Amino acid sequence: MIQEIGEHVFCNEFEVLEPEAGDYLLHYRDRLCLSRVISRGGADAWAEGNAFDLPRVCDYKKAPSQVTYLFAVGGERFFLALDDEVAMPEGFTYEAISWLRYAEPAHLLFASVTGSQLDRWYRDNRFCPRCGHATELGPRSREVVCPECAKITYPKICPGIICGVVDCEGETERIALTRYNGRTTALWALVAGFTEIGEPLEDTVRREVMEEIGLKVKNLRFYKSQPWSFSDTLLVGFWAEVDGDPTIRVDHEELKEARWFTRDEMTLERADDRVSLTGEMIEQFRLRGREVLVVSPGASAVLATEQ
Ligand SMILES: [Zn+2]
Repeated sequence: MIQEIGEHVFCNEFEVLEPEAGDYLLHYRDRLCLSRVISRGGADAWAEGNAFDLPRVCDYKKAPSQVTYLFAVGGERFFLALDDEVAMPEGFTYEAISWLRYAEPAHLLFASVTGSQLDRWYRDNRFCPRCGHATELGPRSREVVCPECAKITYPKICPGIICGVVDCEGETERIALTRYNGRTTALWALVAGFTEIGEPLEDTVRREVMEEIGLKVKNLRFYKSQPWSFSDTLLVGFWAEVDGDPTIRVDHEELKEARWFTRDEMTLERADDRVSLTGEMIEQFRLRGREVLVVSPGASAVLATEQ
């Protein structure tokens, strides 16, 4: 998954640091990231062979004027240029974050995607949301402060759930997969949705499963979570068993289709998905079936049982 960066340790403790020549210095324009493409692979979504690098301080001919420290990955420090425009380093171009998602190395992919979320947050909070005055970067933590009304704004993370709804009664062994309306990717997915204000995650699961496919669920099990910077989200993955009538009723406002799949019926379209929790969970069910419901150390725990 996108946050799995091997031996590269992610360290995001806030510090006020000055960049040095060898540090990474990221710059973004909308959903584009200043990058140096090393190679481009095939056209398929999961094609291998996409490789890129990110700019370092010494690559810029002229130093950006407003720079803030972001985090360290594998001992390398990453800074962010907050300038609207920078003097383009030679050999670099602005590449879509959505392309970097399929590129290597994994630790730079993670750094660029995570940096893009912070970049968006800094840019969206240049002015105080309460009084409209220009904000300043806070000195003690990752925050922007309004000098006029003292409002402090912190980075925003929206929790959301992904749920693998399974039917494993008796000999049955199947999973409910969905396809969204109006998405460019037509891959099969799992029930997913954002948590509403005032709602525990377990209720988000129950509500989204009922809204999208009309099923009651029981025996919720937490599987894994995943930061998903593309939508400022922290995704929380659950397994849940259908409770009672397994007849799927599709919400056609949101979904194009939804149906049960046995393991044999499942396609291999997600087998090479190296970045998403959805992809991992779908592939886990294809490979392990009902075994996904067994709590395994380090991966999952029963968070909530039937209420
Ligand atoms: Zn203010």
